[in-house]
Amino acid sequence: MNMSHLYEITVIGGGPVGLFAAYYAGLRSADVLLVESLSALGGQTGNLYPAKTLYDIGGLPGISGQALIDQLKAQVAHFDPEIRTATAVSAITRTDDHFTLTTSTGTIETRTVIIATGGGAFTPRRLAVDYDPALDQQNVLYFVKDLEAFRDQTVAIAGGGDSAIDWALALTPIAKTVHLIHRRTQFRGLESSVADLQATSAQLHTPYLIDSVTAAGTQIDVRLKEVRGDAEKVLHVDKLLVNYGFMSDNKQLRNWGVALEHNAIKVDSQTATSIPGIFAIGDVATYPGKLKLIASGFGEAPTAVNEALALTYPERRQALHSTQLYH
Ligand SMILES: Cc1cc2nc3c(=O)[nH]c(=O)nc-3n(C[C@H](O)[C@H](O)[C@H](O)COP(=O)(O)OP(=O)(O)OC[C@H]3O[C@@H](n4cnc5c(N)ncnc54)[C@H](O)[C@@H]3O)c2cc1C
Repeated sequence: MNMSHLYEITVIGGGPVGLFAAYYAGLRSADVLLVESLSALGGQTGNLYPAKTLYDIGGLPGISGQALIDQLKAQVAHFDPEIRTATAVSAITRTDDHFTLTTSTGTIETRTVIIATGGGAFTPRRLAVDYDPALDQQNVLYFVKDLEAFRDQTVAIAGGGDSAIDWALALTPIAKTVHLIHRRTQFRGLESSVADLQATSAQLHTPYLIDSVTAAGTQIDVRLKEVRGDAEKVLHVDKLLVNYGFMSDNKQLRNWGVALEHNAIKVDSQTATSIPGIFAIGDVATYPGKLKLIASGFGEAPTAVNEALALTYPERRQALHSTQLYH
């Protein structure tokens, strides 16, 4: 690892958007480095919902989170850029005509920076009731790594948003029984998903809250209490999958000097931040009309790479279409 090397572009964040930006930088023959704080690439898609099927990526009628990340990794490997995992960036400092990044594994010198740190470090919102922590991972789950772990099992899913509905749809054909518990009568998912849900065999428990979770042999008893009512019921299940959303921590952004709006980096239509030479894309970037979707980030990545290179080499004209660049 050569610390005095000066990269043309450093992409911070190895989620789907950072991976695509690193690939696109390869297409433009840029000397690019990709830095990821976790030991695995993939961001939210690879870590939070690898088994979920995504239906809103152009050209892919349906692809699992993990398969999408595998495809992005295969794509980026074509240009074999330097990738440093388990390396968290803590500070960005302007030094003469370039930037110095302070990381958990040393410093990086780079002419330009593309920040693709998404929501930062993600942690799931936990159940509001106390339960034996020994049940975590065995019976009480906050992530799905492998759908097969639910085959022929009785599963309760807690939550009423997109993610809870997606899991109910994905697990109904695999599990023996699926219960879905939500504190409201209405679900907050995409209309088409809610309609699909109502056509499945999933048993809906609304409006109910989880009152307690206790061990019952190798299974658990999930006691439910009716919201604004007296009814109670107990579900005897193998697994409880909690989908109360995620909390993200993007505190480090405040130390990077770029202008923020509600914990996101403000960018213009060229993905430029308030500091020349630093660009931001994907979930971490905001502008009027911004949608936090992979498809939006995929659109922002080529803009950031081309703008970063135009800043470094104003005389170099860019080819627009990939056939002119692929080698
Ligand atoms: C449950 C769920 C379901 C979703 N479903 C869909 C869907 O169906 N379709 C869709 O388009 N979108 C969906 N999304 C949103 C989608 O996942 C995000 O839009 C996408 O992940 C954004 O990609 P990103 O690369 O910008 O950020 P992220 O995926 O958040 O990746 C950012 C990466 O940066 C790393 N990082 C953070 N800080 C640092 C640092 N200081 N140094 C180094 N690395 C750092 C993180 O570890 C992470 O790997 C879903 C999100 C969730 C939570």
